[in-house]
Amino acid sequence: MHRATVLEARQGLREGRFTSVELTEAVFRQIDRVEAQVGAYVHLARESALQQAKNADEKIAAGGAEGAPLLGVPLAIKDLICTEDQPTTCASRFLDGFVAPYDATVIKRLRAAGAVLVGKTNMDEFAMGSSTENSWKHPTRNPWDLDRVPGGSSGGSAAAVAANECLAALGSDTGGSIRQPAAFCGITGLKPTYGRVSRFGLVAFASSFDQIGPMTKTVADAALLMNVLAGHDPMDSTSASVAVPDFTQALDRPVKGLRLGVPKEYFTSGLMPEVASRVEEAIAKLKSLGMETVEVSLPHLDYAVAAYYILACAEASTNLSRYDGVKYGFRSPHSDDLLSMYQNSREEGFGEEVKRRIILGTFVLSSGYYDAYYLKGQKVRTLIKNDFEKAYEACDLIVAPTSPIPAFRLGEKTDDPLQMYLADIYTLSANLAGIPALSIPCGGTDAEGLPVGLQLMGRHFDEETLLAVGHRFQENTRFHLATPALAGE
Ligand code: GLN
Repeated sequence: MHRATVLEARQGLREGRFTSVELTEAVFRQIDRVEAQVGAYVHLARESALQQAKNADEKIAAGGAEGAPLLGVPLAIKDLICTEDQPTTCASRFLDGFVAPYDATVIKRLRAAGAVLVGKTNMDEFAMGSSTENSWKHPTRNPWDLDRVPGGSSGGSAAAVAANECLAALGSDTGGSIRQPAAFCGITGLKPTYGRVSRFGLVAFASSFDQIGPMTKTVADAALLMNVLAGHDPMDSTSASVAVPDFTQALDRPVKGLRLGVPKEYFTSGLMPEVASRVEEAIAKLKSLGMETVEVSLPHLDYAVAAYYILACAEASTNLSRYDGVKYGFRSPHSDDLLSMYQNSREEGFGEEVKRRIILGTFVLSSGYYDAYYLKGQKVRTLIKNDFEKAYEACDLIVAPTSPIPAFRLGEKTDDPLQMYLADIYTLSANLAGIPALSIPCGGTDAEGLPVGLQLMGRHFDEETLLAVGHRFQENTRFHLATPALAGE
């Protein structure tokens, strides 16, 4: 049962083939079998999940499943989305044990849709990282190879879905944190258009980039979750007042004749040859399904890493100033006056990478450097946005690798932050431009069998085309059905 997709589970629950309590128990049994190896979660909510499952079963028995599209379905939540009945720690010492006084809007929506919340998933501290090694608690391991990282920062969510420790999960994506771990763990991940999903109750990292999105076993499940998550929220002034389509209906849209833009800058020397081969084979498959390819150019790709890390750090340094030891969270016990209390709380409460970002961000915003770094970064952001607009004159969506490499080994990049940043090269542009982007599995490397991700990037608010193309691909391939084999299963 725990291997089911959300759609399959929904069907089984409605037909009475199993109950939500049985399904939820099956998920927790799987967690008992594999979690010690994977380490996907930082908090498990067994009791409340079973209670929610019981309520769902009563509702189903009473015929109340209509209007509750996720009724009885066990999901996992990245630990930076506020939940009033579970801790929200962002995998940081600073928020250890913190319980938010309110639910994020997406959590309210999931609860209204009847979802069962299994627990909170591990992540890089405050979502800063690409490997989940920056978690204060413990690293998460890739279920395909326990010596490798699951990607990050939503590595816990990706690993939990891949290891069948939940049916689907929520992640967040500031610079690739949904798509890159989805690619590394062989699952489906969608970063929606900036403004499509409310950020109210999402702990802020870089507010002009952050988006919440679904991490699932299939594109069809991602569409279903998007129907629940998307929509304007008066509590988030950056959430867009645009109509929300029925994403599930979009799955069956015709894709014949769609023009796939292949950006030549994405297929250069930094791309591992085997990853290139899998992506090229996937593009050939899409062509065989009636789509055509056109070469497009995104000439400012080379500046994406620099622009992103300047702007995201600048925003982070401002957002993280709220952690001062006074209002909530960690307070250092080793202080004898106010100033040293601030300083020691921040020194002891934040991890190394978070401190690095605060220092970088404060530097690029400081007088004398603002124009040279922050302002210039904003200008590059506009150029990158313009590149996409120009490319979309010639194509309907863009196809590219999600990551230049498959999952790397634990510890491989921890001593070299720049190498870690550079690996984000293919995902950052979508965040800089605010466009939606989907990662789907497209096969594995020959020797190690590590998953490879295909990235589809769309026009603003055109998640539908991405979902339609991704779904058609999954209807005609079996890559998304592959699952890792873990000891004890
Ligand atoms: N890896 C990128 C970073 O470290 C992106 C993280 C994210 O999307 N949250 O900033």
